[in-house]
Amino acid sequence: VEDSPITSELIQKYEKLFTLTPEKMRSIVDAFVETLKRGLEQYGQVVPMIPAFVFGWPTGEETGDYLALDLGGTNLRVCLVTLSGGGKFDIKQKKYRLTEEQKQMEGSLLFDFCADSLSAFLESAQAEGTIKAGAELPMGFTFSYPCQQDRIDHGILIRWTKGFGNPNVEGFDVTQLFADSLKKHNVPVSLTALVNDTTGALIASHYTNPRTRIGVILGTGCNAAYAERVGNIPKMKDLGIPDDTLMSINCEWGAFDSFEHKHLPRTKYDEIIDLTSNKPHEQAFEKCISGRYLGEIFRLVMKELIDEGVIFLGKDTSKLNEEYCFDTAYLSTMESDMTPELLTIVSVFSQHYKIETTLAERQFFKALANLIGTRSARLASCGMAAIVKKLDILDEGCSIGIDGSLYDMYPGFKERIHEGLTDIFGEKGKNVVTHHAEDGSGLGSAIIAAMTKTRK
Ligand code: ADP
Repeated sequence: VEDSPITSELIQKYEKLFTLTPEKMRSIVDAFVETLKRGLEQYGQVVPMIPAFVFGWPTGEETGDYLALDLGGTNLRVCLVTLSGGGKFDIKQKKYRLTEEQKQMEGSLLFDFCADSLSAFLESAQAEGTIKAGAELPMGFTFSYPCQQDRIDHGILIRWTKGFGNPNVEGFDVTQLFADSLKKHNVPVSLTALVNDTTGALIASHYTNPRTRIGVILGTGCNAAYAERVGNIPKMKDLGIPDDTLMSINCEWGAFDSFEHKHLPRTKYDEIIDLTSNKPHEQAFEKCISGRYLGEIFRLVMKELIDEGVIFLGKDTSKLNEEYCFDTAYLSTMESDMTPELLTIVSVFSQHYKIETTLAERQFFKALANLIGTRSARLASCGMAAIVKKLDILDEGCSIGIDGSLYDMYPGFKERIHEGLTDIFGEKGKNVVTHHAEDGSGLGSAIIAAMTKTRK
C-alpha cells in the first residue's frame, strides 16, 4: 500500500519479538520439568504443585444428582449435573457474568453473590420439577485460584490471580466463607468438594476419554493438573498414603518463571502488563498466554505505534487508552477474517473504537494477532511437554483434555499447540493429542463430589 508507514521491517521487528524457536522451547521445557519437581519436593515453591486430594480415576459408574458452582475468572456458572452411569451424564446450567467491581468487593459479598445465584438456580429448578424441594444435594465448588488443601472439602486461598483482589479471602478457608454465605441465605446444599477447574477438566476428561493424563485450562487464566504417584511427591511422605496411590496435582503452572524472569522470552509489553497489574512479578507464564492478557498485549503494541506516529495518523484514538479495553476475542475475530479487504477488522475498529483503518493497518493487525496468539499456544505446549516428560509417557502417548475459550474459539489454537509439541519432541510429539475437555468445571466437580462420597 502506497505511502504506508507500515513497512516489512516493522512486521519483522514484531516477528522477532514474538517468535519462539524450537531450541528456545526445549530449554523452557527443561527448566519447567525442574520447576515441577521442586514443587513436588517442598511446600511453598513458586509453582506450588498443590495436591488436590482427589485419588485415582473415576470408574464411569458414578451416579446421582450433583450441584456444581464454578467461580471462574470471567463468569459464575451454576450447574445441575446428573450422572447416570456408563460414562453418561446430563448438565443444566446458568451463567452469570462477573463485573470488575465484583472482583474487588469485600470477600464476604462475593460469596453472598455466589449463594444468591445458587439459591435462584435451585428455586427455578424446583419450580420446573428437575429437583425435589427440600432435597439437600451434594455440591462441588469449582474455585479456580491456588488453594492449599489438606482434604477435599477445605482449602485456604494462597493468593488471588486473574485480576481478582477481594479483601479478606487470601489466607482464609474459602469453603468456610462460602458455607457461611450459604447458611445466611438458607441454601440447602452440602459442600462436598472444593475443586480447581484444572482438576475438574482432568477428571471430566478422563471420565469421557480414559487416555487422558493431563487437564489444561486455556481461558481467562492458564493452568494444568495431572495425576501423580504419591511415591513421587516427597513433600507428602509423612501422610502415610501408599506410594502407588494416584493423586491429582493442581500445578498452578501460571506462576512458572515468576519473580526471577529467567526463562520466558518476555517483551516490554509483557513487562508493562506485569508491573501495572494488581500482582506484579506473579503469574509470569499465565500473563504471556491467557485470555485475560492477550488483548492487552495487542493494545500496548498499538499504543506504541500510535505514539510513534505509525498507525491511525490524525485520528482520535482516545477510546484505545483504557487498560484492558481490547478483548482477546478480537484477536480471534481478526485472525478469522478471510475477506480480501479485511472487512471484519474494519468493523472491530469502527464499531468499538470509532476508528477508521487503512488496509495496510488491518493487514498488520491480522499478522500481529497471529504472532501473539501463536506465541501463547507454543508457550502452552511447553508446559504440556514438561508434564509429559515428567511422567515419561512420550512413547506410550496420551490425550490432554483442554477447556477454556482460547482453546475452544481461537482459530488454529489447537493446531499451533500440536505444532509446538512436534517442534519440541520431533515426530514423537504426535503421540500427544489434545481434545476439548467436555464441560470440565461442572462435570468434573460433580464427578469428584461423587468419587468423594464413595471414598467416605
Ligand atoms: P473462564 O476462564 O473465566 O472460566 P473462559 O474459558 O470463557 O472463562 O475464558 C474467558 C476468556 O477468554 C476471556 O479472557 C476472554 O477474553 C477470552 N475469550 C472469549 N472469547 C474468545 C474468543 N472467541 N477467542 C479468544 N478468546 C476469547
